[in-house]
Amino acid sequence: MTTEGPTERTIIHRIAEHASYDSQTVGEVLDAGLIAHVGIIHDGSPVVIPMVYARVGDTLYLHGSVASRLMRALRSGIPACVTVTVVDGIVLARSAFNMTMNYRSVVIHGTARLIQDAADRAVVFRAVLDHLVPNHYDTVRPPSESELAQTMLIGIPLTEASVKIRSGPPLEEPEDLGLPIWAGEIPLTLVALDPIPDPDLEPTIPVPASVDNYSY
Ligand SMILES: Cc1cc2nc3c(=O)[nH]c(=O)nc-3n(C[C@H](O)[C@H](O)[C@H](O)COP(=O)(O)OP(=O)(O)OC[C@H]3O[C@@H](n4cnc5c(N)ncnc54)[C@H](O)[C@@H]3O)c2cc1C
Repeated sequence: MTTEGPTERTIIHRIAEHASYDSQTVGEVLDAGLIAHVGIIHDGSPVVIPMVYARVGDTLYLHGSVASRLMRALRSGIPACVTVTVVDGIVLARSAFNMTMNYRSVVIHGTARLIQDAADRAVVFRAVLDHLVPNHYDTVRPPSESELAQTMLIGIPLTEASVKIRSGPPLEEPEDLGLPIWAGEIPLTLVALDPIPDPDLEPTIPVPASVDNYSY
């Protein structure tokens, strides 16, 4: 991976001690996240669209319909900004001013490239599904020629990416520490509940290990 420290666009000004530009940390947060918010300027107006994604090496991949406005805009080579956020908790301070969240977030600035090579496209298809449910791709029907033709795959390099991570208790004003006010953290995480079979599922079909063992 080629993230190489802050650039003019990625330098985090506020609370810089929470910032990192380390490629391994970028990868870890992307792998922990589920949804990418992809921002572009389209027809002079900003728009941010949530998308499923996958990271493979030093590239973040998106897949979408060839009819998608976002995918078509990205394909044209306009600049994009992608954010992935993992929420770890709510941080309650003694003062309203110091309330915050614990989180891990990545911001990527870049320009997308269309993935056309058939072998690369196969890798990305697999990666996107396996990012949602690890090792699940091998249990499903692979995409048909028609489905492949309807799907655009694009990659955004992780060369210009920043990470911000906050963890731990609130940071308080020293004079607030003696106040009789509760302070601390409410940890938050996504939790997978028991899988619900499709009503049309043939009852003898077993739950695959990828689903049975799934945990977020
Ligand atoms: C869940 C969540 C909630 C937040 N809530 C607030 C809030 O309510 N108020 C508030 O002031 N801040 C909040 N933040 C922090 C916010 O994302 C910015 O970091 C903050 O506004 C400081 O930006 P800046 O002026 O230093 O950088 P900017 O000048 O806004 O950004 C410069 C560059 O820094 C990088 N960058 C900025 N923020 C992040 C980030 N979070 N992760 C990775 N790279 C980043 C980007 O590459 C960006 O282009 C929150 C963050 C998260 C993840």
